Amino acid sequence: MIVVMSANATEEHLKITVGHIEDLGYRAHILRGVERNVIACIGDERGKPQLLGLEVLDGVDKVMPVLAPYKLAARVKGVSRQPVPVSVNCVFGENNFCIIAGPCSVESEEQIMQAAKIVRAAGANALRGGAYKPRSSTYAFQGMGEEGLKLLALAKQETGLPIVTELMDVQQLEVVLRYADVIQVGARNMQNFSLLRELGKIRNPVLLKRGLSATVEELLMSAEYILAEGNPNVILCERGIRTYETATRNTLDLNAIPVLLERTHLPVIVDPSHGTGVARYVSPMTKAALACGADGAIIEVHPDPANALSDGNQSLDSAAFAQLMTELKPLAEAMKKEMSVKHTAR
Ligand code: PEP
Ligand code: MN
Repeated sequence: MIVVMSANATEEHLKITVGHIEDLGYRAHILRGVERNVIACIGDERGKPQLLGLEVLDGVDKVMPVLAPYKLAARVKGVSRQPVPVSVNCVFGENNFCIIAGPCSVESEEQIMQAAKIVRAAGANALRGGAYKPRSSTYAFQGMGEEGLKLLALAKQETGLPIVTELMDVQQLEVVLRYADVIQVGARNMQNFSLLRELGKIRNPVLLKRGLSATVEELLMSAEYILAEGNPNVILCERGIRTYETATRNTLDLNAIPVLLERTHLPVIVDPSHGTGVARYVSPMTKAALACGADGAIIEVHPDPANALSDGNQSLDSAAFAQLMTELKPLAEAMKKEMSVKHTAR
């Protein structure tokens, strides 16, 4: 931590502040400036009282951290980014642009089977589908629960696609683990720290979505909860944030992609479906995500969007998804990203 003294701080203020820093168990190193003095506090803050409290002292202007508050998620300069493998055909990182696609919710056997075949045929790497749905309204469709998970397993058996599905509560962990390859933590649960800690104790990849109003730093601190418990397999997802703009459901924060790629070694993907909330904006924003360096995208695809039980308005139908996948390929090539999937014949 760095303690910045006020311009009008006296020598007495400086002395008292240094005394406080040393009493808290740190070494204090004074850096004398022309206009103001700065004190570098040396020592590990973990397990000690917080230095931020020094801001209340007379003569102290502000207390600032020197290091990022996440250590395991941080990218070390010169060290390459860590891939997160899900299956042979689905590795996040390593210059791949991986596509997770499928409906917002699993609705029936017919619907998920159709969706799985559509996304596989178009070249998706993994199948998404929610069985436990975090809906803003308690009266909206809440998902099929374990029945939905069983249908996802059936779709996996049929297509070979690994399954990405949301876990809303620690209580469902055991059952979700029986069926899921990647566990999705939804935006509303990004700061559910007890859930994150439990996900740190398993080794399945976790797709961690950015909270509705969370900063990039808060997203990384949430990832740190999972990493700190021992699970290195975290994929981050920018899914749009709340802004004053109402023309779209959320504002897809593409700035976050290059920022995250610089700050963390974890793979970063984009969710243009929730990021825009409008099916016809999904294609341009997926392309933009690819262009700004993302490692992939998660896209809502439904065989019959007009009759979907959730998020039909932002879901692509079979033709629109196939077209998007075709249009992404030359862009991926230009970005030196790999999009090929080698499926065995079925
Ligand atoms: C979803 O993926 O269907 C979903 C609910 O996403 P989010 O948590 O980003 O709103
Ligand atoms: Mn959805």
